Amino acid sequence: MAQIEFVRSLPVKYDVDVFVAGGGPSGLAAAVTAARQGARVFLAEGQACFGGMGTSAGLPMFCAPTDGVHVTSAGFGTDVYERLIAAGGTAPETRGKPLGTYNFFFNCEALKRVYDQLAQASGMGFSFHTQFLDVAVEEGIVTHVICSAKSGLFAVRARLFVDATGDGDLCARAGASFEKGDAHGAMQPPTLLSLWCDIDWEKVNRDGYGVWQQEKHLPRAFQDKVFTVEDRHLPGMVPVGPHAGGGNIGHLFGTDGTDEVSLTQALLRGRQLVLEYQRFYREYLSGYEQMQLLGTGALLGVRETRRITGDYILNVADFKRRAVFPDEIGRFSYPVDLHATRPDSKLFAAFQQEMHDLSYKPGENYGIPYRCLTPVGLDNVLVAGRCISCDRYIQGSVRVMPGCFITGQAAGMAAALAADQGGTTRQVKVPELQACLATMGAFLPNRDRPCSP
Ligand SMILES: Cc1cc2nc3c(=O)[nH]c(=O)nc-3n(C[C@H](O)[C@H](O)[C@H](O)COP(=O)(O)OP(=O)(O)OC[C@H]3O[C@@H](n4cnc5c(N)ncnc54)[C@H](O)[C@@H]3O)c2cc1C
Repeated sequence: MAQIEFVRSLPVKYDVDVFVAGGGPSGLAAAVTAARQGARVFLAEGQACFGGMGTSAGLPMFCAPTDGVHVTSAGFGTDVYERLIAAGGTAPETRGKPLGTYNFFFNCEALKRVYDQLAQASGMGFSFHTQFLDVAVEEGIVTHVICSAKSGLFAVRARLFVDATGDGDLCARAGASFEKGDAHGAMQPPTLLSLWCDIDWEKVNRDGYGVWQQEKHLPRAFQDKVFTVEDRHLPGMVPVGPHAGGGNIGHLFGTDGTDEVSLTQALLRGRQLVLEYQRFYREYLSGYEQMQLLGTGALLGVRETRRITGDYILNVADFKRRAVFPDEIGRFSYPVDLHATRPDSKLFAAFQQEMHDLSYKPGENYGIPYRCLTPVGLDNVLVAGRCISCDRYIQGSVRVMPGCFITGQAAGMAAALAADQGGTTRQVKVPELQACLATMGAFLPNRDRPCSP
């Protein structure tokens, strides 16, 4: 490929303590937490709202805000859930029920407004339609980032940087090492999420076609050749309003979420694929006969791309032993939900077995060490959200939104402390970080306990 040199003098539009790339659940948690600590924060979000997958992609369900006993995602998470409930932004099925593991369905528009309010009240700076592009880095210290927006290119100077892009874009541009997918580079397939109306939920529930019952009817449709790909895994349609549904339906196998050509192909395929599912729901299930497609996500629902290599790589053995770490910044409990990379019946059976085997009883959880947020070789960068330092199994668990609240708020708190003390991320005193997180309500039951073997 031909190359060009591109040299420009850019305005330094913002000079702050903490820069956050990406305003999904992890990025917003980081930015709000840091701003509430008094840090000067600027967040760049590429889309038109905060929330990432939970808003721009159209995902209407929090998985595992609790472990069935403890609110593991307490702190920023509680703030979000309480405001969403108070704003009437939850689906009828969720209202009046205690926070559980799988029952938190919401309206994405309501979540957008909750996130807007949290951001504005915190005093953080931010702009939408603002893409993080690149970094200026000197000997492990990032000095500036370059952003692109309607006004053109500009730079942001900051003391600390949080990569909450979901894909580890900032860390990768700064030269951090990472892993992507399995040993062959294959990743969990994305889904183009969709919003539907005119669903008769009363009939759906009466006839037994709720979210956990939909998948088992696929084989009949396979026989009738309704689908171009026989994908046995159907996360399903959940209620988001009296007659509205949020569809997590159809996998786009073979997509690389860090490659715009691959993303484009997936979006084109995804918009055709929803029509196959529309036929399936209308003709093979009860209560969906009249359903209409209202829209698909503005952002493709990407489950997995880079995992940035940090000072510790959280792994499946840690999950199995319910690990306790001296530097844990939170604990989490969602099962290992690692969607198969191909539409293969054996792989799907293995996925089901794995998700069954790698799940916890109520009240059980695993620790997330601070070292998973500190990328090797970078002294003033933290990573949060679905691209933290872990193996694929843990990524399949910690990637859900409440898990991202936990790592996001910890990254924001650590960045604020480092900025305040003029130090690096590794100079942050862990007991102080844990104490500050506990003050904001974070679930840290092992603060004074020794680590597990
Ligand atoms: C199809 C699907 C279904 C899922 N189901 C559930 C579920 O039921 N419940 C649940 O809790 N979780 C679920 N998840 C997981 C969860 O939604 C995501 O893993 C989570 O949102 C990740 O949060 P994040 O902050 O790391 O990244 P994201 O949510 O991906 O947010 C990243 C944000 O950064 C922005 N961004 C990215 N790059 C740049 C850049 N270069 N410059 C500026 N901005 C940038 C993006 O626009 C986005 O807003 C699902 C995910 C998918 C894809």
